[in-house]
Amino acid sequence: MATAVSDGGGEPDRYRAAQLGLSRMLVRDVRRLRRLIIPSRLRSSMPDWFSAVQAVVDQYAQTSAALGAEFYDAQRDAAGVTGLFTVPVADPPPEERTESSLRWATKDVWERESDVATPAQLEPLDVRLEQAEKKAELVVQKLVADTGRGTVLEAVRQDRRATAWARSAALGACAFCRMLSIRGAVYKGDTVDFRAHDGCHCMTIPVFAGQRFELSDNAKEWERLYREYAAPYSGDQLRRFRRAVAEHG
Ligand SMILES: [Zn+2]
Repeated sequence: MATAVSDGGGEPDRYRAAQLGLSRMLVRDVRRLRRLIIPSRLRSSMPDWFSAVQAVVDQYAQTSAALGAEFYDAQRDAAGVTGLFTVPVADPPPEERTESSLRWATKDVWERESDVATPAQLEPLDVRLEQAEKKAELVVQKLVADTGRGTVLEAVRQDRRATAWARSAALGACAFCRMLSIRGAVYKGDTVDFRAHDGCHCMTIPVFAGQRFELSDNAKEWERLYREYAAPYSGDQLRRFRRAVAEHG
């Protein structure tokens, strides 16, 4: 018998709450590491902060991947899929990736000559450090959330009984994420990437053979807004949709 699966409801909502809780704890832990950066010894203290953040990211990424695997198994059971399948649990991001994300986040803290500095780089050091911290929190959140999302996506790819995946955007998600989520099921053969931005709380929902995907009521409402205010304006759809979400969403 065909079952339905959606981007909202019991299990997906629980999974979202678990990943959101994880993101919050991650940010809290990363914020605590801020004391490792000593403003008077920026050059020498920064590497300690890098490695400490790396360790936290690794730990949280493992949990995110485990949550993704658990969610996948639960969705597979709920779909009534038989036959064994072991979810390939994604590894934490490679060290180079975390490092380059952190380098990007902290690029404005370094002293520049005033004639080449951007306005952000001319702010006092404490402001620059504050900005860097905010950016770092966003990039690590993405690295960790990507590990959970990647685990589900890879399982869909490898599992012969999985046919598609769908993007599920959080209630307060940005227009970009809502626009992608109303596409519904993306089939395995489709060459659509899962594009997430920093601070994105979107997640991947697996769809199995014999299952049909239905948008949740929230996503249906976004779809209605998209059809009415954005779809007819080819080339300008995201901007129109963003405005519609701001005004009606
Ligand atoms: Zn978004």
